[in-house]
Amino acid sequence: MTSTPGLSLLHDPVQNRGTAFSTNERSQYGLEGLLPIGVDTLDLQVARIHLQLAALDNDLQKYLLLSDLQSRNQTLFFAVIMSDPATFMPLVYTPTVGEACQKFDHFYRAARGIYLPITAKGRLKELLAHWPQQDIRFIVVTDGERILGLGDLGVNGMGIPVGKLALYTAVAGVPPQLTLPITLDVGTNNPQYLEDPLYLGLRQQRVRGAEYDAFIEEFVQAVQALYPKCCLQWEDFANINAVPILARYRDKICTYNDDIQGTAAVALAGIYGALRISGQKLTDQRFLFMGAGSAGTGIAELISEAMVLEGLSIDEARARCWLFDVNGLLEDTRTDIADFQKPFTHTHAPTRSFVEAIESIKPTAIIGVSTVPKLFNQPVIEAMSRLNARPIIFPYSNPTSRSECTAEEAYRWSNGQAIFASGSPFEPVAINGRKFVPGQGNNVYIFPAMGMAVLATEATRVTQAMFIVAAKAVAEQVTQASLDVGLIYPPQSQILDASLRTAAKIAEYVFDQNLARASRPANIESHIRALAFKPTYPA
Ligand code: NAD
Repeated sequence: MTSTPGLSLLHDPVQNRGTAFSTNERSQYGLEGLLPIGVDTLDLQVARIHLQLAALDNDLQKYLLLSDLQSRNQTLFFAVIMSDPATFMPLVYTPTVGEACQKFDHFYRAARGIYLPITAKGRLKELLAHWPQQDIRFIVVTDGERILGLGDLGVNGMGIPVGKLALYTAVAGVPPQLTLPITLDVGTNNPQYLEDPLYLGLRQQRVRGAEYDAFIEEFVQAVQALYPKCCLQWEDFANINAVPILARYRDKICTYNDDIQGTAAVALAGIYGALRISGQKLTDQRFLFMGAGSAGTGIAELISEAMVLEGLSIDEARARCWLFDVNGLLEDTRTDIADFQKPFTHTHAPTRSFVEAIESIKPTAIIGVSTVPKLFNQPVIEAMSRLNARPIIFPYSNPTSRSECTAEEAYRWSNGQAIFASGSPFEPVAINGRKFVPGQGNNVYIFPAMGMAVLATEATRVTQAMFIVAAKAVAEQVTQASLDVGLIYPPQSQILDASLRTAAKIAEYVFDQNLARASRPANIESHIRALAFKPTYPA
């Protein structure tokens, strides 16, 4: 069947305006008769989607409605999300995207993004060139091995790059036509998928070792050849691959890993915010982490690098960061310490008691990245409160059910002294007549802004220092009124504005450091605001 020009327009998500095509446009493009006679404004279309969403009673259905909308009318999709980011972010990304990924093959509808199976090795450039846009500036890529906390989801992980890129646009205005979601399909070790006839990826065990590395290398080369100004963001790779891939490419191309670097930056932003409440210096802090995995060591390293910028040597800085894991405090008599933990393994008597470690090390902050709930119990919070007028208590494990403590517990057991932020959201708490608003250390404060800054500057690299700048910029934007109720992150309702300011600060640093390929505009923030995607139909 050949379609009329009008019908093709209605099927083109970038150009489609649906019922908002004006009477003139309808007659000009052969749309008369293809639409009901009524002409909507974009606002009315947004209101209609709100109505449709309200009629649905579960978040997965809402996710699917929004996903279908994105395939039909991109402008309206972003207008809806940007109408209320705090409400819609959890629907297009975490936590809803987790369930959507698990069922991706069962609910599969429209193609979106690029799939590169390892069986196409040697032809990756050819497959990538099938993407219609020639100027791609931002790629989020996964191999689906460690999707959120859900494990190996194979190609079902595609929901993550798609959802994450939607946030780059909705939260920091990265123009969607410059972005590309990619899934590398190297197989899956998930037996449930391998046996499911509806699974859509390669039916083989994951490829590892030299063949995997060569595949990644070919992919990086193909991206560089086709999109030389593109930033590559690695997402939800298993640690065994995430860490070496980042190490291999971070000094060669414009690239970063949000799970490692974005997480660290948002935690550092929380620390800077907390220091605005306590009035202390970063270099006067001592950190004790509950959990010594990738999140814990990543945060400890970025904190250390931030302390170096404030005058400490890297060894002095790392000496202020201590780790505690399932086998107790990391100290130098232990024989089970991995290389990436060694910088934070110091001289101390062995202990398996976290309270004992607190009493000995006297941390000013404890950060929970253990994946285990309730480890910040009453004795822990009370020990921190005895040692500090304003103890920093950050239970960052996700989801809420894994949080090391609740907001209410931290405030109650510290008698309202705690400066609190968590990985998953908590409702405001009232203790002794005082109201506390807990902040959520959500990476969304960092990664969209980083994407926008990289785009605006055409940065050659994404450095650790850029993440420190981002963290400071986020913390600086917290108002005194927020700090007064204990909130150390900007409100998510104003996230677009906050991200554009953060992006401007990062961009300024990129220009200052000669890491930019674009020329420096007279006013960086206005330039970024002008570049930002606006969810409106062009005049
Ligand atoms: P990981 O598996 O790499 O590390 C977990 C660490 O916790 C290990 O060192 C382990 O030994 C330790 N641990 C396990 N049980 C323990 C126990 N009973 N007592 C003490 N330590 C124990 O995990 P990860 O990738 O580092 O992530 C950790 C947590 O951080 C996750 O829950 C994740 O959701 C959270 N996280 C939050 C954010 C965010 O909110 N922005 C970002 C990234 C990670």
